[in-house]
Amino acid sequence: MIHPAGQPSLVFADKEGNITDFPDLHAAGMSAGDVVLPAKEDFIPLPAGSELFVLPGRFPVGYDQENGEALLVDEDPFGSGDEIQAVAAFMSPAHTAVLNSAYQTTEKAPRLPLFAYTAVGWYDGKFWTTAFRSDDDIRQDADQFDQQTINRKTSKKLEKHKENRLIQHLGKCCLTYGCPAARNYFLGRWEAPLPTSPTCNARCIGCISLQASGKCSATQDRIQFVPTAAEICGVAIPHLQTAEKAIVSFGQGCEGEPLLQTDTIERAIKNIRKKTDRGTINLNSNASMPDSVKRLVDSGLNSLRVSINSAQETYHTNYYRPQGFSLQDVCKSIQVMKNADAFVSLNYFILPGVTDSENEFNALRKLLSTFKPDRIQLRNLNMDPEWYLRSIAFNPSVKPLGMRHWLSEIKHEFPELQFGYYNPSIR
Ligand code: SF4
Repeated sequence: MIHPAGQPSLVFADKEGNITDFPDLHAAGMSAGDVVLPAKEDFIPLPAGSELFVLPGRFPVGYDQENGEALLVDEDPFGSGDEIQAVAAFMSPAHTAVLNSAYQTTEKAPRLPLFAYTAVGWYDGKFWTTAFRSDDDIRQDADQFDQQTINRKTSKKLEKHKENRLIQHLGKCCLTYGCPAARNYFLGRWEAPLPTSPTCNARCIGCISLQASGKCSATQDRIQFVPTAAEICGVAIPHLQTAEKAIVSFGQGCEGEPLLQTDTIERAIKNIRKKTDRGTINLNSNASMPDSVKRLVDSGLNSLRVSINSAQETYHTNYYRPQGFSLQDVCKSIQVMKNADAFVSLNYFILPGVTDSENEFNALRKLLSTFKPDRIQLRNLNMDPEWYLRSIAFNPSVKPLGMRHWLSEIKHEFPELQFGYYNPSIR
């Protein structure tokens, strides 16, 4: 992995959003609200396909190179007296944050939208961010997508399948939202999405498909219908029969909880497996209903991806605001899959300072050793960090381990456990 030879400098944006570096201060990072001086080994070059966000109403914090103190920069350091804003990196997929962007929020600052805000600095003519690549799979790498090919293949399939509402819905996901999974479906490769559920049995604070409060906008609209088993098979069967490393996944960002559509999904899986036993049938879920998971694994489901923000009941409840289920039900679903010798991934929301806090580390170790999932997907939490910490009533225990140290400890203790970012093709 490439690291900078020297300490990257702070970057900031002027009121028009133009980003500049300030060499007198080192770039800083944030760990659950604490400002940290990143180590050079924490930085990697900003990955291709990443974006830089200007954070309204937030002043950058850097580190003084001389005395090593954290310094707030609340106006243009080059002396114009103009107000400035902090900057963060929204990294391209398959990269996991080590530290968040360091800033101080002003009273009137708006809530940040549903993205992840990783620390970023400038060194030797380029941007560096505090992260590591967490999956070598290239399925969502920016250079894997050619827009003209996507447009041509998508229009052709939409024309051919006018009657299939699910294919038409995925057409919008692909062409309007640029969803990488929908794009790969129309390109006939890798992992294809099968959204099914307009409803959910949780009210996650950071739900990306439904933000009832209106204080923050959802990043995509929820599907408004339940596709039939035939419509699902119309997407899944040809894809599983022909695609390279073929996976079809129920449970997408544009829907609620798929387990609420167990009858339809069970029928679809049975019909799919009547036609082909090729490829992986996966379910991304909040894993709230172990009995439904049992029905699906008995019908041919191969893998389950369990989304959790925390292995601690309080933080899980405070985030998911579950309707009639608890973290214990989630763990029961993992057990059901493992009893059926099927594959389980944890879709673990990463927030530096929370994930690597001692209590969370110990709770995760307990969950891993008791329920034995096969893989952890290291997904950045896409939410305003301060809003998240308030919402779960985070109680920082002792100084966090540091994300890179956390990862090496978990890898050491669980040598069989896989680490990644994506659902693996397991057949
Ligand atoms: S489980 Fe998924 S769909 Fe349901 S509220 Fe949470 S993020 Fe939204």
